[in-house]
Amino acid sequence: SAPIIYVVTPTYRRPEMVAELTRLGQTLTLVKRIHWIVAEDSLTCTAPITGLLQRLGLSYTHLASPMPEVYRKERYVPRGVSNRRAALEWVQEHGSDRGVLFFLDDDNAIDVRLFEEMRPTETVSMWPVGLIGDYTVSSPIVKDGKVVAFYDGWPAGRKFQVDMAGFAVNVGFLKKQKKVTMPYIAGHEEDGFLKSLGLSIKDIEVKADGCTKIYVWHTRTAKNPSRALKLEKHQNDNIKV
Ligand code: UDP
Ligand code: MN
Repeated sequence: SAPIIYVVTPTYRRPEMVAELTRLGQTLTLVKRIHWIVAEDSLTCTAPITGLLQRLGLSYTHLASPMPEVYRKERYVPRGVSNRRAALEWVQEHGSDRGVLFFLDDDNAIDVRLFEEMRPTETVSMWPVGLIGDYTVSSPIVKDGKVVAFYDGWPAGRKFQVDMAGFAVNVGFLKKQKKVTMPYIAGHEEDGFLKSLGLSIKDIEVKADGCTKIYVWHTRTAKNPSRALKLEKHQNDNIKV
């Protein structure tokens, strides 16, 4: 049977949450052998998300792991790290060695063809991500079938200049590494994680037709602060009732 893909989606409560997860979750129902790990930045799991997961019929795990308060106060907040870490631990403990780990943030859009690209990953595979930064795309640069550099609008001294949705990791390979972690450093979560895998650039598996195709985008749903305030008021009013 085909390797299972463990799709890790960090998320947090705001007016757009249910909409984002409905859209992503329904995309995932088009794909075979997926296990969706929805990891909330929260103390508890949110009821409408539990309902959604039950209805979708996917194999899933619903986790909650809040960001430690100290990081919320930072100028650049490392978003989604505590919850991704919780999901990572879950995969290290329960994941099948033949499986594949993939981080998919809740504000991304994905073409289901990407899943069949990443499914045979033996160590770490990479591909382009659309709608990233000023360059509009972030991609490995490929020469003779190998990654030689990265094209990314925000190099920031990173060894691996990739977006969270731009790579997948074989679970057996992940489990063999001793110090796997994701740092609480905004903008360096991917690079720190990939470095912790002891990965060399020469070992990266190239996907999406030599990194010439875009199958995932960081679309970023617009946030509306006044909508968020209304939701908060609504929830507070409900608690008072
Ligand atoms: N996220 C989170 N807690 C937060 C803010 C964001 O868990 O306080 C999640 C969010 O749902 C998304 C990921 O972390 O899946 C990255 O966050 P966001 O898209 O806001 O950050 P950006 O892409 O702008 O760096
Ligand atoms: Mn985002």
